[in-house]
Amino acid sequence: MKFRELAKILDALERTSSRLQMIAILKGLFLKTPPEVIDKVALIITGKLYPEFREKDLGIGEKLTMRAISEAYNVPLSVVESLYKKLGDLGRVAEELCKRRKRQASSFIIDVIEEPLTVDEVRKTLDKIADISGEGAIEKKIRLLAGLLSRAEPNEAKHIVRLVLRRMRLGVAESTVLEALADAFLGAREYKELLERAYYVYPDIGYIAKVVATEGREGIMKIRPQLGIPIKMMLAHRAQDLKEIFLKVGRPAAFEYKYDGERAQIHVFKDGTVKIFSRHLEDITAQYPDIVEGIRKALEGHEAIVEGEIVAYDPDTDELRPFQELMRRKRKYEIERVIEEIPVRIYLFDLIYLDGEPLLDTPYNKRRELLENTVKPNERVTFAERIVTDDVKEAENFFHKSIADGCEGIMAKKLDSPYQAGVRGRLWIKYKRDYHYELSDTVDLVVVGAFMGRGRRAGTYGALLMAAYDKETDTFKTVCKLGSGFTDEDLQKLPKMLEPYKVDHKPARVESELVPDVRFLPAVVAEVAAAEITRSPIHTCYREKLGTGLALRFPRFVRRREDKGPEDATTCEELYQMFLSQRKKKIIES
Ligand code: ATP
Repeated sequence: MKFRELAKILDALERTSSRLQMIAILKGLFLKTPPEVIDKVALIITGKLYPEFREKDLGIGEKLTMRAISEAYNVPLSVVESLYKKLGDLGRVAEELCKRRKRQASSFIIDVIEEPLTVDEVRKTLDKIADISGEGAIEKKIRLLAGLLSRAEPNEAKHIVRLVLRRMRLGVAESTVLEALADAFLGAREYKELLERAYYVYPDIGYIAKVVATEGREGIMKIRPQLGIPIKMMLAHRAQDLKEIFLKVGRPAAFEYKYDGERAQIHVFKDGTVKIFSRHLEDITAQYPDIVEGIRKALEGHEAIVEGEIVAYDPDTDELRPFQELMRRKRKYEIERVIEEIPVRIYLFDLIYLDGEPLLDTPYNKRRELLENTVKPNERVTFAERIVTDDVKEAENFFHKSIADGCEGIMAKKLDSPYQAGVRGRLWIKYKRDYHYELSDTVDLVVVGAFMGRGRRAGTYGALLMAAYDKETDTFKTVCKLGSGFTDEDLQKLPKMLEPYKVDHKPARVESELVPDVRFLPAVVAEVAAAEITRSPIHTCYREKLGTGLALRFPRFVRRREDKGPEDATTCEELYQMFLSQRKKKIIES
């Protein structure tokens, strides 16, 4: 497949303001993409070269890309830099300089006939760039990238540069791609769910695209968990009080401590190889050699996938340490020294594969029993504290005990529930200690726009337009203008931080009635606290179901959540549930 065919479609995706049109464009693309490269194409569309768990660093950031552009188009670096200042996007800089070079060439009547680039070739060259290391690596990387750019058409150059920098600026998410694949190969967009389930078990969009394109529905139905391929993690809903929890998960229910650390999914191979994956499916094995050792001993002779929370603890008192301590450890480079300084332990709470058997459909209670019968605990590896009860008082005491023991709260789990990969369902419910706000939990929202500041905030943004994620329609719907809680330093950083996501038209997946001064592709997530949720005529969250939208009252910025992608943000459905239970609470109190 010629790269120029793909580049043309990427241009169309960049321009569209309609999600349906986006799906139609993608469907057309997939139908004409040869199966040998459909995996690569699906990844490129989502701005990736590899799935998260195989992520390779190209070792090329903005600076080196600028040098490659300068070499490719034979212009001084200073020209590239000043054009970048003007255009704010290195992709467009490459496009512009490529055009200029072509104009020059034609005025000298030099007809340079280049073989057109193919998708396969672009991808292979980028692989090569990623694999080069050792002496002279930087120069070699620059030369390879410059080689690609010098053969590219202007719009090809734009997309190659954006791909290298992992900023495709298309606003296409995996779920959009899955919907288009369902439409193209299963006959209707509605079959997206089938693909989604398979994707959650094997989260490589390229692999799913290839299987559905070559083997159709049958191939997709055969996808099973595999050792070494992380499964998307099951997530929890929230509740405002314990009675509500029992209503949701039934009686009796299991309650576990909700540890405040890092979620880990650990794959153990027969030969003792251990791989640890983060909540975002990145391979974080190298950060935890102590956990690797502990898990190897605890599961010796088995093949397994277990899940738990890694928490820092004090070896003298055995008390848990706060989340920040774990982060401190993650930031340090000399891992061997930090192991002593900040020891960690994993509290296991699930077993989803054992000795060749996937256990996703095995009831939670049985999985927990198998977990306890299989794992031999040691200093680094133990089980999450838990009780099973049908009594609200007992659950409440357990909650207070969890807080006293340094946890965030508790997680309730339905006893006969399957492990729903990638789903934030109602089978797990989190119940956290109160923050100092009326809303008992903060929410995570996505920045989709900004309003220019005045007075003290002149020159930066005065407020951000924030949206929740509507999972059903795969769109982002607004819930508030966020102007308080920022320090002066936060405010100053905002324009630069948001610059890569700036677009000049309404992004296809954003639904907003308010028109901000600047619009952004949904990318940056922030944790927001608020006084309460109210109805609002100007916001779009939950509007089609409720008649009016939902909004946050007195929203305050808490912190940026760099660990979350836009699709991990709080959903409109969750906000609606919070709105309902807040209303119930008010009625009870009055
Ligand atoms: P939060 O911002 O509250 O951490 P989240 O969006 O990261 O939420 P949730 O599904 O809402 O994730 O909450 C579950 C998280 O709590 C898990 O991802 C995990 O990291 C952590 N956790 C701690 N203890 C447990 C437990 N016993 N069972 C499941 N998850 C647990």
